[in-house]
Amino acid sequence: MAKKQFKAESKRLLDLMINSIYTQKEIFLRELISNASDAIDKIYYKALTDDRLTFNKDDYYIKIIPDKTNRTLTISDTGIGMTEEELENHLGIIAKSGSLAFKQENEARDGHNIIGQFGVGFYSAFMVADVVTVMTKALGSDQAYKWESAGSDGYTITPCEKATVGTDIILKIKGNTEDERYDEYLEEYRLRSIVKKYSDFIRYPIKMDVKRT
Ligand code: ADP
Ligand code: MG
Repeated sequence: MAKKQFKAESKRLLDLMINSIYTQKEIFLRELISNASDAIDKIYYKALTDDRLTFNKDDYYIKIIPDKTNRTLTISDTGIGMTEEELENHLGIIAKSGSLAFKQENEARDGHNIIGQFGVGFYSAFMVADVVTVMTKALGSDQAYKWESAGSDGYTITPCEKATVGTDIILKIKGNTEDERYDEYLEEYRLRSIVKKYSDFIRYPIKMDVKRT
């Protein structure tokens, strides 16, 4: 399948993220956990008004899976998932161009920490990963889809296999060069401390599943 190009705004933010001027790279995890939590919220609120849906608390959680052998960090949720169209519309375009403009303006004046105060969202994953893969199956859909991107040169969307509704975000953690190695984000203790620091208030369980080989 042909590679698609990001919309201009998204490309600018992506470039910012990739050549990151930000010091607090660890906040990528907060952003991905917050998206996972939002996705579970969407099922929760749907269940409140839809009699055919029941929300069993135990079925909804976020899982963090570091895998040192493959250098991947997966953030998995049992949330509402995304259709092919939603993948295209939500991950190919930055909707909040207003806040992006605000950030860039202020970044210039006060070169740090803006990112800590405003949600920067999904693309922050590219600060620590050179490839981001999203495998997702939407509620009520039979087909799952895979979104994949190695950065600002574009992304692909293809059908894939996924048994359950929800989303897996798989980060291939950077490790190519001496000054761009983020092995720390494959360490259980490090991940636990980031979760505690930024995501303590999340209403759903955050589980850790350490891959040992
Ligand atoms: P925001 O969360 O502020 O909307 P993001 O860049 O973090 O911006 O995410 C963009 C959009 O991508 C979300 O609004 C949501 O529609 C979709 N999305 C991201 N992660 C997930 C996920 N884990 N499950 C379902 N949808 C998601
Ligand atoms: Mg978000």
